[in-house]
Amino acid sequence: FRLTVLTALSAKQHGAEIRTYTEVVDVLHRDGEVYGVRVKDRLTGRDEEIRGRIVVNAAGAWVPEISRIVGIKQTLRLNKGAHVVFDRRITRFGIICRALDGRTVYLFPHETGSILGTTAIDIFTSPDEAEATYDEIEYLISSMEMAVPSVRDARIVRVMCGVRPLIAQWWVPEGDVTRNFRVIDHEERDGVRGLVSVEGGKLVVCRAMAEKITDLVCEKLGREAECRTHLEPLPGADGKVNVEEIASRYHFSPHTAGRLISRQGTLSSIVLSEASNERSLLSSVCLCEAVTEAELRHVIRNEWGVTLDALRRRTRMGMGPCQGFSCGFKAMAILAEERGMGVEEAFRELERFLAERWRGHIVVLRGSQLSEYEMTQAAYACVGSIDMKVGEEE
Ligand SMILES: Cc1cc2nc3c(=O)[nH]c(=O)nc-3n(C[C@H](O)[C@H](O)[C@H](O)COP(=O)(O)OP(=O)(O)OC[C@H]3O[C@@H](n4cnc5c(N)ncnc54)[C@H](O)[C@@H]3O)c2cc1C
Repeated sequence: FRLTVLTALSAKQHGAEIRTYTEVVDVLHRDGEVYGVRVKDRLTGRDEEIRGRIVVNAAGAWVPEISRIVGIKQTLRLNKGAHVVFDRRITRFGIICRALDGRTVYLFPHETGSILGTTAIDIFTSPDEAEATYDEIEYLISSMEMAVPSVRDARIVRVMCGVRPLIAQWWVPEGDVTRNFRVIDHEERDGVRGLVSVEGGKLVVCRAMAEKITDLVCEKLGREAECRTHLEPLPGADGKVNVEEIASRYHFSPHTAGRLISRQGTLSSIVLSEASNERSLLSSVCLCEAVTEAELRHVIRNEWGVTLDALRRRTRMGMGPCQGFSCGFKAMAILAEERGMGVEEAFRELERFLAERWRGHIVVLRGSQLSEYEMTQAAYACVGSIDMKVGEEE
């Protein structure tokens, strides 16, 4: 998440306009030429046209859905993967071993917990419908417990699932499909001017993917500037920060200082600058992930933190063992104050956030974890009058 938001921040510093929660609902085209997109703001419901000489379709697993609007048939090998997140570090080492079916699975320490992954299942429906199943989770645990028996009884805090937008290679097992990427000029391939798309790739090569796309766009626009992104650090990555110094200056534990610095790097002192006059900003809102009020206010103001989910992705607030149980209310109050939200709007936002957390639990809830979760729900219902229902959705 931080890599994505820092890339967006860097783009903004270089003149880009970033719109989050903005969905492309139509591609504007006439006589074989794409000249923009129609977008819908998912928070306000407002529609708007954005015009440009080139449109880049970088919608990952949704690339074919965008291309279809202009009549281009584009096929990807969509491949679903699930991960299990545990509440603590089950091991201090990354462990990679053979799964029951001979594939490879891994258990990695990740942030304050551990991650077990991953499955790889071809899907033939919309990526929106992809969900992790209990079978997948059982497959991962049964495979890893042969190497790490304690994984069977470890507490699962969440299950997550994504869809890989692989280049369409068929008649080979998923593991043999290339993880390379290709940039497509649709003028050359389909005779549609003004549209470029990207297929495949991996997060680790995201900068190289962006460079190749941007080079093609520059070529088409007749620009000759050299790419510099491999030379320029992302925001906050331009130096080292001393954990002990921040901890002692702000009376933090080294853990709290370390967590902040791992997210904000050299921007940490800017995040904390207002706290010099207002010490209460230094209190932790999310105890699991050591997120202070100062950090939440900073990301609301500077990193498009417009929803509780956005705050979670920027700071990991609500991603620890309690999954937002103890920090959700406090974060909601801060977000509501910063954005001028009314009480009803703020509670709806909290319900949406908790419902999303619930989606990641529901697959795995069995036995004592189910009882524990029922206690959590009861606490929300009794203390906050929130019964985790969002409209028709439960
Ligand atoms: C289970 C799993 C494990 C993985 N493990 C690794 C790994 O270990 N290492 C690694 O490097 N890579 C890994 N990857 C691959 C990596 O996550 C993907 O390659 C990468 O996310 C693809 O990046 P992308 O930007 O092309 O697509 P995405 O990250 O999917 O981004 C596309 C974006 O477009 C948005 N979008 C879609 N439709 C619209 C629309 N109509 N309007 C506006 N926006 C839209 C989506 O919401 C999304 O945010 C993994 C992927 C999965 C699923």
